[in-house]
Amino acid sequence: MSLQYEILGRPGDDNALLVRVDSGQGVCRLLFDCGEGCLHTIPFGELQQLDHICFSHFHMDHVAGFDSLFRALFNRQDQPNHLWGPAGAAEILQHRFRGFLWNLHETMSATWRVHDITPGRNSTSRFELQEAFAIAHDEGTTAWDTVLLDLGSATVEALQMNHGTPTLAWIVREKTKTNIDITRLASLGLRPGPWLKQLTTAAVGQEDPLIEVGSLSVPLSQLRRQLLVETPGASIAYLTDFLLDSAAQQQLATALRGVTTLVCEAQYRASDLELARRNYHMTTQLTAELAREADVGQLVLFHLSSRYTPGVWLEMLEEARAIFPRTTFSSGWNLETAS
Ligand SMILES: [Zn+2]
Ligand SMILES: [Zn+2]
Repeated sequence: MSLQYEILGRPGDDNALLVRVDSGQGVCRLLFDCGEGCLHTIPFGELQQLDHICFSHFHMDHVAGFDSLFRALFNRQDQPNHLWGPAGAAEILQHRFRGFLWNLHETMSATWRVHDITPGRNSTSRFELQEAFAIAHDEGTTAWDTVLLDLGSATVEALQMNHGTPTLAWIVREKTKTNIDITRLASLGLRPGPWLKQLTTAAVGQEDPLIEVGSLSVPLSQLRRQLLVETPGASIAYLTDFLLDSAAQQQLATALRGVTTLVCEAQYRASDLELARRNYHMTTQLTAELAREADVGQLVLFHLSSRYTPGVWLEMLEEARAIFPRTTFSSGWNLETAS
């Protein structure tokens, strides 16, 4: 599978999500949130290759591990440093950058860009290590529509939700892959050759060019019909810390339709609905209903409240499964086998 994920952190502790998108030419790594102690299991070498760090919001349990991450990356020059978050991201993260003593930094150089994301707007601020991160250079605001970030083989979307403060829900979607069906090639008696490249690269406009295949001349559109197969990409959504009222349910059921993996918070059990609403959080029941309505491939529950015992967490898993059977915890947690 070319889209892999790992839930970071333990049940009841801070959590985060690492997503690896393998395009075949290289791996793009995205980290969603950065709570306390979440990075211990990521090898240092991989930490240094993170491409994008995307925050849902900046409550402590989602950003408390940022110092460790920044320590590993602060002077990274061999690839861009991008941080993404809801409105106020640049201001809060600049405080994090500035929370250390910087001297001798004039001889070093690294650039960090922080993107404040609001619906349809991306405001970028640039910070320089050489300046001890003292100046927020305004790089302007750009408009975006549905897709916030194009990674080449995948796209990243962000939806603004309500946690009493704006939070971002994130969706990573691999693009549909177009491949040549080699077995069909043989059954049609066509010999492979340089012409195969034209199948995926040549444009079919109003004219339908003839492709030379050995001694034959075959219309490009016909070859494409016979030989190309489209494989839909995998997708993963990261949802945490917001009120799942009926408007949000409706919005997300559409946005998440058919998503392969939904990673979603399970802060509260179903009977604590009032508490969940008051704190702008979800319950297992609401989460599972969303998964069912959006018809996702699987639901992975994380960000469990430490107010409950492990026994209650397992009951919460069952609550969700009663509504949406394809629900699990991170397999690395071993919660079910431990009971
Ligand atoms: Zn929160
Ligand atoms: Zn939280």
